[in-house]
Amino acid sequence: MNEHAANASFREAVVDLDAVRANVATLAAQVAPAEIMAVVKANAYGHGAVPVAHAALDGGATWLGVADLDEAFELRAAGITAPVLAWLHGPDASFAEAIAGDVDLGVSSIDQLRRISDAAGGHGPSGGRASVHLKIDTGLSRNGVPPEEWVEAVAFAAILEAQGRIRVRGVFSHLANTDDAADRAQLAAFDDALAAASAAGLDPELRHLASTAAALRMPASRFDLVRAGIGTYGIPPYGDGTTSADLGLRPVMTLRACVAAVRRVEAGVGVSYSHTWRAECPTTLALVPLGYADGIPRQASGRAEVLLAGRRRPIVGRIAMDQFVVDAGDAEVAVGDEVVLFGDPQTGAPSADDWADAADTIGYEIVTRIGHRVPRTYTGRA
Ligand SMILES: *Cc1c(COP(=O)(O)O)cnc(C)c1O
Repeated sequence: MNEHAANASFREAVVDLDAVRANVATLAAQVAPAEIMAVVKANAYGHGAVPVAHAALDGGATWLGVADLDEAFELRAAGITAPVLAWLHGPDASFAEAIAGDVDLGVSSIDQLRRISDAAGGHGPSGGRASVHLKIDTGLSRNGVPPEEWVEAVAFAAILEAQGRIRVRGVFSHLANTDDAADRAQLAAFDDALAAASAAGLDPELRHLASTAAALRMPASRFDLVRAGIGTYGIPPYGDGTTSADLGLRPVMTLRACVAAVRRVEAGVGVSYSHTWRAECPTTLALVPLGYADGIPRQASGRAEVLLAGRRRPIVGRIAMDQFVVDAGDAEVAVGDEVVLFGDPQTGAPSADDWADAADTIGYEIVTRIGHRVPRTYTGRA
């Protein structure tokens, strides 16, 4: 048994809240005087929205960003009073509840503006006035007011603002992070959109464009606020071999489990479904109780590695729904020993990006998909 065996959990994602705090502080120092919106959508990329939100605010974030209203309501229900922006709404989104709950609304169409205006006028901390951030599509072709409708949208918003139904607190857009030239073209389109907003009589206090990638590498994209998601979690946004340490960031999540079974096998023995791998020589196999139900990508079968018994060792055979097998060679391993799938590479563990490479995806997806069967445990000051 190694020294970790005594306290290894069956399976857990350990979330280091001190790392969240440190990452936000690092990002804030780099982008100042722009402010940080910590993006905590999708349960804080799988890390746990409420604890991460508290730590991010403590680290200097002044805003929280989420995709949909239910995510915003979860923060409000937990007693978080910091400004929250939600930007992705279905046709039945409860804008009245959002206004009553003091949730800022990202607006991507004239129709949404109309519905928000209809929902305004009730009660709540804002006096029933909706606080909105108008989103212009500058080239991602996803969400946002299409450029050809922007002049009409800002004119309509100015009327609603004059009527006291809404307050246009922000104007924003989102980059495709394609390459420098494409980002600059979007930046120019954003500048045009801001000029049109101001010509319509709007005076938004917050202009925001950058997410983590541009915030770090493209100072002109920072405006008043940057929306930092992946950087908050200490994972590089680039997928080009840049490490967390290169960016001065610390990986927040460590995914680990304990060895559930150990067996010694002879040469020729096939492992897991379809026997895609066979032992070439006698070896020790360790069973890890995590599988694709827990978000471990099956695509990484036979490609990813874990930290076990002091070094990185390969996953062999197919990753199954609940479990996979590691070839431990001739190492001494015992049931209960700790296995680290990913964490801070400075501890010898693979990074989330290593898993992303093994599964042809991005670090974002690796942490965000960790399933509900894996308890999140928190270290660091809550
Ligand atoms: C998810 C998201 C972000 C955060 O992006 P990162 O690359 O994780 O920093 C920012 N803005 C919008 C609109 C998003 O949807």
